[in-house]
Amino acid sequence: MAIRLDVGVRLVVEWVEYERHIQMDNSDSKLKTLAKLEGCDEMDILEAATYDGVCPGICVNEGCEYTTQVEPDQRAGHCESCNTKTVKSALVLAGII
Ligand SMILES: [Zn+2]
Repeated sequence: MAIRLDVGVRLVVEWVEYERHIQMDNSDSKLKTLAKLEGCDEMDILEAATYDGVCPGICVNEGCEYTTQVEPDQRAGHCESCNTKTVKSALVLAGII
């Protein structure tokens, strides 16, 4: 019983750490990847997205670099490469929206 509790607590701690890692590091690196693919820096993308009705977005799946134009508040856009709803806009990745 004590061992099972330990395992349970450890799994919860690992899950929380994993979630935190995904939310902070993945978004940040995905935003950098998106900027690199667009040929500009992150600020250029964010600035352009503030004026235009569309915003570049990138699939947040590990290893996928599919990009497309999305609505600025897009959080679950369609990735044609993965066939999943995993495209987020640069503004969402940056935590602005
Ligand atoms: Zn993808």
